[in-house]
Amino acid sequence: MDTSPRIGILSAMHDEIDALLKLLTNVKKITKGQRTYYSGTLFNKEVVLVFSRWGKVASTMTTTQLINDYNLTELIFTGVAGGLQNDLNIGDIIVGGDLFQHDLDASPLFPKFHIPLLNKAGITTAFSEKLLKATAVFLQDFKRHIDPSTIAAFKLEQVKARIGTILSGDQFISSSTKISELLSDIPQAQCVEMEGAAVAQVCYEYDIPFSIIRTISDKANDNATLDFPKFAKEVASLYAAGILKAYFDMK
Ligand code: SAH
Repeated sequence: MDTSPRIGILSAMHDEIDALLKLLTNVKKITKGQRTYYSGTLFNKEVVLVFSRWGKVASTMTTTQLINDYNLTELIFTGVAGGLQNDLNIGDIIVGGDLFQHDLDASPLFPKFHIPLLNKAGITTAFSEKLLKATAVFLQDFKRHIDPSTIAAFKLEQVKARIGTILSGDQFISSSTKISELLSDIPQAQCVEMEGAAVAQVCYEYDIPFSIIRTISDKANDNATLDFPKFAKEVASLYAAGILKAYFDMK
């Protein structure tokens, strides 16, 4: 067990991990259970960085190992997600306010979405206001760091960020019918992904403050024609590094 207090950073994207690793110094690397945990210094803060892997089970395992092997002061999750609200565009940012597992339904034993034994459905995050402020600071001048042709390709002229509800489940959502189903149950949901609510539950049970940012990479519908690798490399990973820097600078 590494006893130094550290901020945990979990990312669901290889490109984000690669971008953050380039900035990490004093790196110490440990591999366990097919995951590699990188501890070190990032923007003057002691951190531990790991690729969550995809889906609820995989990310739950990574989070549990991380919490048990390191002395985390808080955990921040970063990744991409499908937008659920019409006004959300590719490149917009949702800072998680609360998270639900949209595929969890143990009714009639428990109400739909309720986590058995915790007696609650949504898990609330810890530092959403602060993370939104950091995101706003980053957005003020992020265009200086992104190639103009990339801004044009992904129409990033008017990027917006807000705090909202995030849904997680073991499905990649790519249908308008499924979006309508999700919104009829949880109308305020902003985006859908495959890990956040599971990681939030683990942090809740271990009493670790949890925050999450998700960049909208697609609109979760049938006509998502995004160049995903280009978006991950040239946009999402720059966002992750820039927002974390602004957030750490505030601490
Ligand atoms: N090809 C990508 C991985 C995509 S796998 C890469 O190489 O990085 C799915 C990841 O995208 C998961 O982390 C999931 O949380 C997120 N995601 C993005 N859009 C989604 C959607 N519409 N539905 C579910 N998950 C989505």
